[in-house]
Amino acid sequence: MIEFDNASLIYQTGTKALDNVSFKIEKGEFVYLTGKSGAGKSSLMKLLMREENLTSGRIYVDSVEISSLTRNEIPYLRRSLGMVYQDFKLLRKLTVFENVAFAMQIVGASQKAIRHRVPIVLDQVGLSNKARSAIDNLSGGEQQRVSIARALVNKPTVILADEPTGNLDLLVAMEIMDTLESINRSGTTVLMATHAAEIVNSRPKRLLTIDDGQLVRDVEGGVYHLGD
Ligand code: ADP
Repeated sequence: MIEFDNASLIYQTGTKALDNVSFKIEKGEFVYLTGKSGAGKSSLMKLLMREENLTSGRIYVDSVEISSLTRNEIPYLRRSLGMVYQDFKLLRKLTVFENVAFAMQIVGASQKAIRHRVPIVLDQVGLSNKARSAIDNLSGGEQQRVSIARALVNKPTVILADEPTGNLDLLVAMEIMDTLESINRSGTTVLMATHAAEIVNSRPKRLLTIDDGQLVRDVEGGVYHLGD
């Protein structure tokens, strides 16, 4: 569960990136977040990860008010939010298996747990046969699957995907959507920032639109309008 309650973020430069934003996402929802470049989508995700701090208001993740978390507690918040980026952010010198394993190593998982868990998530994203491959030998779609596996490996309650199909052609983007939807059906909440009208309009879901830091639309099965 995610809740923004009158959340505002003003950067030190004076830019108001979020302006009194309130919404609630229940466990198991799949929600699109749209808005023009500069509208505040990335800022919203950074606030959720505690990479930025609210200027006013409150944000709850799984009923915990995140601005009160201590430095030691923030890694637990980040573990519950699996992040997927447009540019994948993979470690190019490591294999597929090692990239996913790394996310478990940094939270102190045992080798035994890693050997058990990594093949499960690689299977979930359809990459069982690529475990030993180098990242550079994978297609863009396959690289995004590795990053989804990495986001899933520590069993987050939410996947935060920031333009996950932005670097992929439409056919591959649709396959990535199939994967995200199947992860969502198994219970993980998904919040996905996107500009892809073809995706939003062909797979209707709840749609949040922000404009100039304000939440201007929150509709079920919303259609993406050119320029949003
Ligand atoms: P989006 O992800 O929708 O493109 P952002 O959240 O990146 O939008 O940006 C929202 C606004 O905040 C923009 O005006 C942007 O220039 C500004 N902004 C983003 N990051 C920073 C920062 N670190 N410092 C100052 N201003 C920022």
